[in-house]
Amino acid sequence: FAIRMDDLVLEKELGHGQYGTVQRVYHKRTKVRMAMKEIRLELDETKLQQILMELDILHKSTSDYIVEFYGAFFIETCVYYCMEYMDAGSLDNLYGTGVPEQVLAKIAISMVKGLKFLKDEMSIIHRDVKPTNVLMNRKGEVKLCDFGVSGQLDKSLAKTNIGCQSYMSPERIKASSRYTVASDVWSLGLSLVEMALGKYPYKFDNMFDQLKAIIDEPTPRLPSGYSKEAQDFIDQCLQKDPLKRPSYGKLLDHPFIIHYQTVNVDMASWTKLAIAQRENSI
Ligand code: ADP
Repeated sequence: FAIRMDDLVLEKELGHGQYGTVQRVYHKRTKVRMAMKEIRLELDETKLQQILMELDILHKSTSDYIVEFYGAFFIETCVYYCMEYMDAGSLDNLYGTGVPEQVLAKIAISMVKGLKFLKDEMSIIHRDVKPTNVLMNRKGEVKLCDFGVSGQLDKSLAKTNIGCQSYMSPERIKASSRYTVASDVWSLGLSLVEMALGKYPYKFDNMFDQLKAIIDEPTPRLPSGYSKEAQDFIDQCLQKDPLKRPSYGKLLDHPFIIHYQTVNVDMASWTKLAIAQRENSI
């Protein structure tokens, strides 16, 4: 079925993105709570139709590691993208002063499985892996959102505003080379280090120095106290030569992942604690 604006009750604003706002909405017919992202685009109707068509492939298959897509529609020149509501929000708002190794491991497992699913099942390269695009719920589930599913949408967003914290890989900074899976693997490694540190790993007072540091400086490391397997996993992802970075299949075979795959981590309790700490610090 198609979602229409008049089936939805607006509940509250969840956040401001680069291109518009995200609202929590309630879908009356199905009684499902959703997150609705408004993307403002100055496009003609043909292009908007094309975006809706391209988004449609998201209905095809679902994964436990990807935020579920419910449907999209447009009004005037805005696209409204309705997806699964993740009631704990994004990782950048949860990691606080840094996540412990076992939680980091479970996040890494979900992220790699999500990225592998996008690549293998949908032939999609994410293109925007960062803590803001990793969402959690109070059940402790970790899922990816905001991946480059629609070519027309990506083109229309004209990602000139790359923000003040870059997750771009060295080869993309140096040569604006084509986006590959390996670039996502870099961003995965950098995002995980950020979650462990509790802050973006490079200094970011100016963009030029930051991008230069990504190319020239030794790659960021986990704080002390993490295992050597965890550090090796990060080092594999953050190799400056993209050809040396492992595939998702290889990452899933890494000792860090293999070990924690069988460890039971109470992600739901950790998530609730992280939410409580976030609310205390505001
Ligand atoms: P950006 O453009 O910076 O990537 P988004 O527009 O994707 O940001 O999202 C803005 C904020 O809205 C996020 O930081 C997150 O907290 C919230 N948000 C986005 N999607 C969801 C969702 N599906 N469920 C709950 N919160 C969400």
